[in-house]
Amino acid sequence: MHEKYFDHAATTPVDPRVVEAMMPFFYDYPGNAASIHQYGRVAHEAVEQARYQIVQLIGAEDPYQITFTSGATEGNNWVLSRFLEKPIKLGVGEHSSIRKFVASKRMDQVSIEPSLLVQMLVNNETGEIFDPLAEKEKIGAMALLVDATQGLGKIPFTAEGIDFITGSAHKIYGPKGVGFLYQEEPILDPLIYGGGQEFGRRSGTVNVPLIVGFGKAAEIALEERESNYAHVLELRTVVLDAIQSVLGVRVNEFNTQSPYILSLSFHGIEGETLLLDLDREGFCCSAGSACSSGKVELSPVLVQKEYDPAWIRGTIRVSFGKYNSRESCEDLGKMIVKLVDSLKNSKK
Ligand code: PMP
Repeated sequence: MHEKYFDHAATTPVDPRVVEAMMPFFYDYPGNAASIHQYGRVAHEAVEQARYQIVQLIGAEDPYQITFTSGATEGNNWVLSRFLEKPIKLGVGEHSSIRKFVASKRMDQVSIEPSLLVQMLVNNETGEIFDPLAEKEKIGAMALLVDATQGLGKIPFTAEGIDFITGSAHKIYGPKGVGFLYQEEPILDPLIYGGGQEFGRRSGTVNVPLIVGFGKAAEIALEERESNYAHVLELRTVVLDAIQSVLGVRVNEFNTQSPYILSLSFHGIEGETLLLDLDREGFCCSAGSACSSGKVELSPVLVQKEYDPAWIRGTIRVSFGKYNSRESCEDLGKMIVKLVDSLKNSKK
């Protein structure tokens, strides 16, 4: 199942083992993790186990450094909201949960010695892998926020030396709507006030099933990281081999590249049209530009990378996952060749 789904950077199916771990926490163990009776204690222990599983995934020291959130968006907003009056710097191609927050609050951006540097680990559109600590050192930043959403459980990564880390469960075969914020020292004032859950850092009744699912997904991701990596690396090669014959294709890749994401630009065609054609054939990918109200909007991430708009318009993103097979990648490659060919011919 899901063999023709190639949009894992958007989200992943929930691993059946994760679903199995979550199920008892809907009916069998429905307690509120803050209650002191037995129902509460069972829920509390499950949440604490999940916190430990996240610690293991990111190589942190202490479960106390982890706060569960609704996802990376919340974590990113949370950290930035505590640096409102301070000079900050953003890496190239940061996610909209960073860029739009900074723009809406008109935050002060500087190029050296910022109070906070935001540097993602893996870019969600190109798969470029960054070295946030080296970047921090280079520009003399006081603190570092790493949005690790696209790298967690996929490429080797540890929390060492990083002040803040954010991530989401649904990129690693966990449920949607749950993520975490890691703080090396838990210093940030809350974003959400109320009943004082999550060590008083993030109020609101803790979502036990989602958190349990996140913990299980983290455990599996860590166990299977290397085998999944080898699998997707092979899949990427299969697609690349299959599309070699297409003239005017550019592979957007970097010296340090995540194999999970393959960004392809086809000159002279609209990525969105190719995407819709692929969808009709059962293949799900994503595009580097979207057409809204008759106007093509280019991906801000690719624009920031200073790609030529003609190439950006023809960009699609193929993002691989563990349920894709060699055969489905061969089929995808062949289908891309066929569809690009007919789109080009239809223009002649
Ligand atoms: N950062 C990056 C790099 C992402 O790819 C995403 C999800 N597309 C997010 C943050 C936001 O994650 P969520 O929607 O789960 O909050």
